[in-house]
Formats: sequence, C-alpha cells, structure tokens
Amino acid sequence: MFVAVGLIIMSGLVVDGISKEFLTRAEPLVVLRNASFALGPGESVAIIGPSGSGKSTLLHVIGTLDHPTSGTVEVDDENPFELDEPSLARFRNHNIGFVFQDHHLLPQLSVLENVLVPTVADGGPDNETIERAHSLLGQVGLSERLQHRPAELSGGERQRVGVARALIRQPKLVLADEPTGNLDHSNAMAIGKLLVDLQKHENAMLVLVTHSADLASLIERQLQLADGILRPC
Ligand code: ADP
Ligand code: MG
Repeated sequence: MFVAVGLIIMSGLVVDGISKEFLTRAEPLVVLRNASFALGPGESVAIIGPSGSGKSTLLHVIGTLDHPTSGTVEVDDENPFELDEPSLARFRNHNIGFVFQDHHLLPQLSVLENVLVPTVADGGPDNETIERAHSLLGQVGLSERLQHRPAELSGGERQRVGVARALIRQPKLVLADEPTGNLDHSNAMAIGKLLVDLQKHENAMLVLVTHSADLASLIERQLQLADGILRPC
C-alpha cells in the first residue's frame, strides 16, 4: 500500500493476516486469527477488547517484540521480521515509540533524562534532540518538572513523561498498550487527548489498545478484538 509522489514513497503500516498461537502443554492456544488492518501516515486506530482478548499480543507483534505464527507486518514497505536481530533492534528504535500501562520510567533519572533514554542506543542526544525533549515536555505540561524524579510526580504526570519519551525519536508509529489503565477517568481522558494531539501534530501513526470504550472514542477509528478476530466496531 503506497502512493508514489515523484520520488517520494508515502506509505504506512500494513498488518496482514496476523495469527498467533502459543504452545502450551495441552493444545496450542490460538490468540489471534488472521488479523488485518492498515494505517496511512498520521492515521490512528483504537483496538478495543476485554482483558485476555489478545490486545497486548497483537501490539507486541506489531511492535516486533514477538513474532507472529503467520502473517506479516510492514512499516513503509519494510518487513521487520526479515531483519537480523541487531537490524531489528535498530528498526524498532528508529520507527516505533511505545507507551506502556506502567510508565517504565527509570527511577534514578530525571524527567528530562527519562525522555532522552531512547536516544542512548545511538550514542546519546545532540543539542537538537535535547531541545526537542524540552519542547515535548512543554507540550505535555511538564516544563516546570524537568529535574524531578519519577517518584516526585503524580501518576498522570509520569504517564505524560512516557508520552514525551515515546515521541522523542520522531517515530513513524506509536503503540500504546492500555496507556491510561492505572489512572482515574479524568486523568485518563486528559492523557488520551494529549496522546492523540501530539500524534497528529507529529504526523505519526497510532495504534492504541484498551478495554475502555471512552478512551477509544477519542480516536478516529475503532476495531474490536474478540475470540481472536479483529473486526470493525
Ligand atoms: P490482553 O492484552 O487483551 O489482556 P493478552 O494479549 O495479554 O491479552 O493475552 C491473550 C491470551 O494469550 C491470554 O489468554 C494469555 O493468557 C495468553 N498469553 C499471552 N502471552 C502468552 C505467552 N507468552 N504464553 C502463553 N499464553 C500467553
Ligand atoms: Mg494487555
């Protein structure tokens, strides 16, 4: 799926026929059955499903943290599962930003340093990247908290840091797994709006999985995952 404009190829995310089985002592556990969807640049989708429906499994496969049993994922016409392990790690680091339910901030680092952590694999941040971190932290409302440690922040503030960190490398794709699952309703909706605003501003693609219909309603398109099958709501 691409549109050629002169020499520029604009593409996006293609998730094509993903199935995932886990081997168990008994029969294989089939979690995903032929899941498919596509996103263009700047587009977003929410995937809704109850606990245990396979949302994290799907997100892990799209994020190249786990291999599918069958099917393919392509980001701008590149199939990451064809890469060797070091190239795959580079691909993930350059193209994908993750927001987790638990913020996964490093407790000994400041807010600013936590946002810069994804740049360490490439030798650390340059001045431009440090400016970008300041700008992102301003956009999530944390300009006055740059030197705070995670323990000195509220749950909502920690998740704002997580959003800024996910975007620091200008990823093509942001993957959010129950990003507001630990927050109260009003904080959850505020973080959801922030995530969508920033994703649009950055023209990144967003796949957000959640059990919350309210959170999903903030996103332009919704799919439902039930019995391993992904279908429109
Ligand atoms: P959700 O994120 O929607 O709550 P998950 O994707 O975490 O659901 O899990 C879907 C199903 O797959 C669950 O029944 C879970 O127990 C099972 N599962 C997840 N990971 C593994 C694994 N590594 N090995 C075996 N079963 C797994
Ligand atoms: Mg999950």
